[in-house]
Amino acid sequence: MPHSIKTRRCFLQTLASAAAAPLLDAQSGEWFDKPMRWPQLTLTEDDPKHFNLKFWLDYFARIRSDAACLSAGGVVAYYPTKIPLHHRSQWLGSTDPFGDLVKGCRKQNMVVIARTDPHAIHQDAADAHPDWIMVDAAGKPVRHWSDPSLWVTCALGPYNFEFLTEVHKEIVGLYQVDGIFTNRWAGSGMCYCRHCRENFRKASGLDLPRTNNPQDPARRAHILWRQQRLFELWRVWDGEIRKQNPNARYIANAGGGALSSLDMKTIGELAPTLFADRQARRGLMPPWENGKNGKEYRATLGSKPIVGIFSVGLEEPYRWKDSVQSEAEIRIWMADGVANGLRPWWTKFSASVHDPRWMKPVELMYQWLAKWERYLRNVAPIADCGLVYSQQTATFYGGDKARAKVEDHTLGWYQALIEARIPFEMVHDRLLERERIEGFSALILPNIAALSDEQCRQLRDYVERGGSLIATHETSLYDEWGKRRDDFGLPNSSASTMPAASRAP
Ligand SMILES: [Zn+2]
Repeated sequence: MPHSIKTRRCFLQTLASAAAAPLLDAQSGEWFDKPMRWPQLTLTEDDPKHFNLKFWLDYFARIRSDAACLSAGGVVAYYPTKIPLHHRSQWLGSTDPFGDLVKGCRKQNMVVIARTDPHAIHQDAADAHPDWIMVDAAGKPVRHWSDPSLWVTCALGPYNFEFLTEVHKEIVGLYQVDGIFTNRWAGSGMCYCRHCRENFRKASGLDLPRTNNPQDPARRAHILWRQQRLFELWRVWDGEIRKQNPNARYIANAGGGALSSLDMKTIGELAPTLFADRQARRGLMPPWENGKNGKEYRATLGSKPIVGIFSVGLEEPYRWKDSVQSEAEIRIWMADGVANGLRPWWTKFSASVHDPRWMKPVELMYQWLAKWERYLRNVAPIADCGLVYSQQTATFYGGDKARAKVEDHTLGWYQALIEARIPFEMVHDRLLERERIEGFSALILPNIAALSDEQCRQLRDYVERGGSLIATHETSLYDEWGKRRDDFGLPNSSASTMPAASRAP
């Protein structure tokens, strides 16, 4: 291990120039670095009936929120939309709860993001546009898993590219919000609709895959094509939103670690800021998994502002959204995110408060964070140990078993590094250029099995410069497409080309 890292106590240090919160950037007008404490109200269809505007605006002010994410449209519209088939809340009447919230937040000098949710449509839209519906492998249109009156949409066809583009234009045009954040925008599984069939064939010359095996040529092509379509959609929405308000941006609910399906390197280039939607612990998840989200985001977003969404409701299969977490649970999840650079963002499902026990703990945490805001801005990690993660390994080597074959290896190292009190950063395997990794004296590759010749060369050069590598199990035994090599791409420590490298058993 490098000699200095055990003496380090903090993950982040405040840079010398840290100062009070900047307002909007004077030159560019960009807002991304301003917000430090976010609320999100996820409205439900009956909320307009008994919605208490003052209650929420007062709470936003009390907790020193400087930005908000508010439900606007998609499966349900919470404003008087004029777009045909954009389903208005049945209780909307002549009200505009979204517009009232936007106005109230603006008076409190808050950044405002509109939330859309395009994953489902109602029967009238399905009747008019049956081709908007997702189709399963048997050729059947897919009903919603929890509400059978709804239909699940295809993410890669005209519903998102045309209909939702109009919705986004309308919302930004009418309310001049600072951006759009979409929930469940990337589809709900493999779709076999007419548009997917035709567009995939046009792009690849192949029929849609019938297997999940990443070594199947059609599956491999589909993995790449789906990403290309979704990034195209991201750019279409971002472009149209900016035409309505030049300072507004599209921000996808996307990104994460090795198991996330959209390339984080591209996301790091596209997104001006990013929100990690990891609402709470479930099962045997340790509290440090929230901080892991921060490290994974920072690996490709660098110093761009990153935000951690936490739910005040339970994420376990029982009880779920209307019940609330304990104070200790809320505090530890939020705190681990903040300690790893995630600005906090709570989300509350429904504007009705059935159980208020979450409100005081969030208030106290947010007020405390507001008091120490100057030390939470303009920070940089000081860790000199890097834990590499690899989406291509998870996708092309792990396949259906990626959690066990890839992610578990990372989690084990993560736990060990925390127990050893060794500060570390996550490193994305597509960002191994010299300037990206030269601050690390050791890189750990926990079964990063799929590495290209070029990535192996970058790692060899790193070792030649004096860096240490710890590689486990099948690291580098496969190429970037998950095809097995005759021998490891990174030779053993006995090889003269890698004097400082070691391969753990
Ligand atoms: Zn489709």
